[in-house]
Amino acid sequence: MNELRALKLYNSLSGKKETFQPITPGHVGMYVCGPTVYYDAHLGNCRTFVSFDIIYRYLLHLGYKVRYVRNITDVGHLTDDGEDRMAKGAKIAQLEPMEVAQKYTVGFHEMMRVFNTLPPSIEPRATGHILEQIEMVQAILDRGYAYEQNGSVYFNVSKFATENPGVYGSVSGRVLDDLYAETRELKSQEEKKHPADFAIWMKARPQDLMVWKSPWSVGFPGWHLECSAMSTKYLGKTFDIHGGGNDLKFPHHENEVAQNHGACGCSPVNYWLHTNMLLLNSKKMSKSDGNFITPAELFSGDSPLVSKGYSPMAVKFFMLMAHYRSTLDITDEALLAAEKGFRKLMETNRLLQNMPVDARDFDGSESDNDRAILALIEDVYQGMDDDFNTAIAIAALNELGGYVHKLANQQLAHTEVAPWVLEKMKVTFNVFISDVFGLKDEDAEDSGTVDGLMELILDIRAQARAQKDWSTSDKIRDALAVAGIQVKDGKEGVSWSKN
Ligand SMILES: [Zn+2]
Repeated sequence: MNELRALKLYNSLSGKKETFQPITPGHVGMYVCGPTVYYDAHLGNCRTFVSFDIIYRYLLHLGYKVRYVRNITDVGHLTDDGEDRMAKGAKIAQLEPMEVAQKYTVGFHEMMRVFNTLPPSIEPRATGHILEQIEMVQAILDRGYAYEQNGSVYFNVSKFATENPGVYGSVSGRVLDDLYAETRELKSQEEKKHPADFAIWMKARPQDLMVWKSPWSVGFPGWHLECSAMSTKYLGKTFDIHGGGNDLKFPHHENEVAQNHGACGCSPVNYWLHTNMLLLNSKKMSKSDGNFITPAELFSGDSPLVSKGYSPMAVKFFMLMAHYRSTLDITDEALLAAEKGFRKLMETNRLLQNMPVDARDFDGSESDNDRAILALIEDVYQGMDDDFNTAIAIAALNELGGYVHKLANQQLAHTEVAPWVLEKMKVTFNVFISDVFGLKDEDAEDSGTVDGLMELILDIRAQARAQKDWSTSDKIRDALAVAGIQVKDGKEGVSWSKN
C-alpha cells in the first residue's frame, strides 16, 4: 500500500497539475463516458478506455477503494440530422434498436477483454435510467434553468451562464462567445430561445423508435443528460474524477456540468481528465479519405497502412509508450518499435523472475548498484504519480532491465545486488506489467499452450509405440515434421524441438 504517495493530476478545469485530494480519504469516485453502442469501438475509443483502465488500476494498486462507473449510451445520441443514432443503426440493419445496442455492447466488451482491461464497478445503461433523467429534468425546471416548448425541454444556457459566472466554459477553457458560435444543433432551432440552448428532453416524432412517457411529452432524454443523472445516482452530487476523450469537452462535458449545477447548485466534479487524440500517419483518422484503420485490421494486418499484424498487447504497449494527454501517432515504424520494446520487456521479466534469490542475510549495507536500482524503482512510481505518465514509468522499467541483463550475463556479480533489492525488483516488474499496465506475456502464453499440446501428442505417440502401432507413431512424427517440430527418441525419453 502506498496510500500516502502524493498523486498529481492534470485537471482540465484549472489547466494545471494539481495534488489529488479525494473527497473521502482512501476512496475515489470516477466516472468515464462510455461508448455509444451503434457501431464497433474505434481505436480512439480504445485508447481512452485503456488509459482510464490504467488510471483505475494504479489507484487500486496505491490502495484506494475505487468506484469506477462507465456508462453505455444506448439512446439519445443525435446525429446532425437530428435522428437518434440507435434508431438509425437499426433501420440500416433492419433490427430492433435494442438488438443493435446488444450486438455492439457485446463487441465492445470483447474488445475490452482483448486489451485486457478490468470491467468497471458499475456499467449503467442510459435506457435503464430514464426515471432518473426525468427527475433531473424536473429539478432543472424547478430551479429555473430550463423551459418547456411544445413538449420538449431546453436548458437555458444564457440564463445559467449569467447567474453562474465562470461555470459554462470551465471544462473546455473556452469563452462563452466561442461556445455560442460553435453551437449548431439543427433540430428544433426555432423552438429555442437562444441557439446555445440544448434539449434535455425531446418530444418524439413519428419516426422515433425509442420513446418514454414523461410529464412533458412522449419522447426521449437529450444525450448529455444520461451522464449527469447516472454519475449523480452512483457517485453523488459531487465526486472526484470525471474522464473522457478530448472531443467530449464541448458540448458534452460543458453541458453535463451545466445540468448537474442546474439541478443541484453544486459543482459536480473536482478533477476532469481528458485523453488526447489518436493520429494515423500524422493525420486525423478519417474513413472518407482512407486514412483509417480498425482495431481488427491492426491485429490481422489486413490493411494497406500496416506491413503486418500487431498483437493486441503490442498495440496496448504502443499506447502506453505515450502519455494519455499527448497525441499518439500510429505509424507502421512506431508499431514495429513498440512490438520490439514489448517483447524485450517481457523477455527481461522472464529472465528476472527466473533468477534465484540468495538466502544470505541482509547485512544492512547497500551497494551503489542497490541504490541505483532502488532509485529506478522509485522513478517508476514517480512517473505514474505524475499524472499517470506511463511513458516515464516504462522508461524506468527499461533502465531497470539493464541491470537484469547485466546480472543474467554475469557482467554484474550476483553478490553485487542485495537479495531484498532483487526481490523488490521482481515484485515491481510483476506489479507494473500485470497489475497496473494489464499486459500479458503472449509469447509465454503461446509456449505454454504448445508445451501442453506437445505433451498430449507425444503421449498418444508413446501409447501407439507401446502397442507397436508404428504407422500411427510415424504419422505423428511426420505431421510434426511438416509443422516444423522435430521429435527425437533418446535414451532419456522423447524430446522435441522447433526448427
Ligand atoms: Zn458522458
